[in-house]
Amino acid sequence: MLERPIDLFSDTATHPTEPMRAAMATAEVGDEQLGEDPTTNRLQDRAAELLDVEATVFLVSGSMCNKTAVAALTRPGQSVICDHLAHLYRWEAGGPAVTAGVMFDPLVTDRGHFTVDQLRTAMRPGTRYVPRTALVEMENTHNFAGGTVWPIERYEAVAEAAHEGGAKVLVDGARLLNAVVASTVPASRWAAPSDAIWIDFSKGLGAPFGAVVGGDRDVIDEVIRYQYLFGAALRQSGVIAAAALYALDHHIERLAEDHARAARLATGLAELGLAVDEPVETNIVFFDPEPVGLTAADFVAALGAHGVRVGAVSGRVRACTHLGIDDDAIDTALDATRITVER
Ligand SMILES: *Cc1c(COP(=O)(O)O)cnc(C)c1O
Repeated sequence: MLERPIDLFSDTATHPTEPMRAAMATAEVGDEQLGEDPTTNRLQDRAAELLDVEATVFLVSGSMCNKTAVAALTRPGQSVICDHLAHLYRWEAGGPAVTAGVMFDPLVTDRGHFTVDQLRTAMRPGTRYVPRTALVEMENTHNFAGGTVWPIERYEAVAEAAHEGGAKVLVDGARLLNAVVASTVPASRWAAPSDAIWIDFSKGLGAPFGAVVGGDRDVIDEVIRYQYLFGAALRQSGVIAAAALYALDHHIERLAEDHARAARLATGLAELGLAVDEPVETNIVFFDPEPVGLTAADFVAALGAHGVRVGAVSGRVRACTHLGIDDDAIDTALDATRITVER
C-alpha cells in the first residue's frame, strides 16, 4: 500500500511544498484588519495588477468571495442568473439565499456556458411583482461542467448583455488561472467585463487556503464591509498570503502540466472503455464507468482499493490533476483502472 494515496479527488488536495512553507515561515506580518499586514498588501497589489482592477482583497476562501461579492452586488429579493451546475448555486449550502437574501434563476447548459439568447430570455427587468435580475454569474473554468473554459467571445457578449439588462457580472474564477493557461487569454481580459472576479489559491495553485476578489474600489469596499459583517476579517494573514504570492510566482505556468496529464488520463480511460466527457480542456476529467458495467460508486471503491482516490459526483466520476500528481501517478491510476475493468 502507498504511504499517501494518489489523490485525484480534487485539486484542493495539494499540500504546501517545502519552498512554499519556507516563504510562509519568513513572511513579514501585521494586523490585516488595520491594513498593516505587508505581505497581504503585496498580494493584493500583485493580484490587482494581474487582473488589472482597481482593488482586491484577500479572503479566507473562494466561497467567502462568492458570499461577499453577491451581497455587495445585489439586494435581498433580487435574482441571480447562473449555470445550473454553478458552485455558487449547487455547492455552497444555499449560502447566498441566507447571506444576501437572493434567489436564483439557473440556466441549463451543455458545458457550463449559456448563450446571450438564453440570458436575454431569462433576465427579468423587475416590476412590482417580479424579482429583478441583479447579477449574472459565470464560472471559469467551470468545475462541474468538466473544467471547461468559456469561449472568450461568448463570455464577453454575455457580460455585455448582462450589463445592457441592468445586471452586474460576477466571475467565479476558482480556477481562472487554469482558464488563462489553457486559453492564453490573459487574466486582465477575463476581468475586464466583470464587476467582481476572484481567484482561489487553494486549488491548482497549491496554497493551503485563501482567495482574492477584485473589482472597482467601491465594490471591494463593500466586499470588505461584508467580510467584517460575516466575521471573516483577518489579522496576521501574511503567513498565508506568502503562500499565495509564492504560488503566483511559481505555480501558474506549471498548470499546463496538469492539463497535459488530465488529457493523458482521459485518453487512457477512454481506451479502457469508459465514457469520458471530451474534450478535456483543463485539469478536470469527468467520466461514466457504465459502459464497463460499473456504477460511479463501485468504480470509486475499486480504485480506492488500489490507493487511487477519485470522487463520485451525480452518478459520474471526477478526477482532478494538480501539483501533487506526477506522470507516475497517472500511470498508476490507469493501471488500477485496467485491473478494475478487466476483472
Ligand atoms: C472550490 C470552488 C469554490 C469554493 O472555493 P473554496 O476556496 O473551497 O471556498 C467556488 N467555486 C468553484 C468553481 C470551486 O471549484
